[in-house]
Amino acid sequence: MIVILLGPPGAGKGTQARVMAEKYGFKHLSTGDALREECSNNTTVGRKAREYMDEGLLVPDDIIFEIIRKNISQHRDILLDGFPRNISQAVRLDSILKDISRKISYVFYLETDDKILIKRLTSRRVCPVCGKIYNIITLPSSRGSYCDIDGAELSQRDDDKTGVVKKRLAVYKTETHPLVEFYSEKELLYTIDGEKDIEALLMDISAIIDKGGSNGH
Ligand code: AMP
Repeated sequence: MIVILLGPPGAGKGTQARVMAEKYGFKHLSTGDALREECSNNTTVGRKAREYMDEGLLVPDDIIFEIIRKNISQHRDILLDGFPRNISQAVRLDSILKDISRKISYVFYLETDDKILIKRLTSRRVCPVCGKIYNIITLPSSRGSYCDIDGAELSQRDDDKTGVVKKRLAVYKTETHPLVEFYSEKELLYTIDGEKDIEALLMDISAIIDKGGSNGH
């Protein structure tokens, strides 16, 4: 099964992807996480990607497809988080999937209001070791500014600082949001209320997956 989580930055895609991967055994494929790993390993790809990420811009498609291509044929159940991010990526994804006789099962669109997004993004903290996502207001660590899993000091993503957040939201609107219509026309889109908490969101998504339909079963 191939599932896409679509939505603006801060809609909770990463957090939801982690709980869904645990529940359904999906391979969680986050292009943002993969790029951040390339950056921290200081690879050629990472150095190139960072120039765009620091500005809140989308990384060129060719870099993204190097990451996607490696993973997509290796796993049966895949959860795509933060990809595709524009129409051209979605079209290219369709063509790769066609070549390997696979189809997208569901696209879950986490619809969320802008005001909430800015608040969520600027108060987000992440564990640099295990990647667990926290929020200093709504989902704090039980160990203050340290991860409650491995004790590492939590950090704020450079692109979660206010100036870059606004740019990322603007880029989302022009580049990524048109995918809502793209997948709706293909009858793959399910709109979910992204303002609900993690468990309620998981229940809404699970109800759709467990019922089957679409290309899911
Ligand atoms: P995310 O963790 O999904 O919010 O992504 C962080 C940053 O990585 C984005 O602001 C982009 O610069 C870059 N990025 C992640 N996924 C993609 C993608 N599919 N296409 C282009 N850029 C991406």
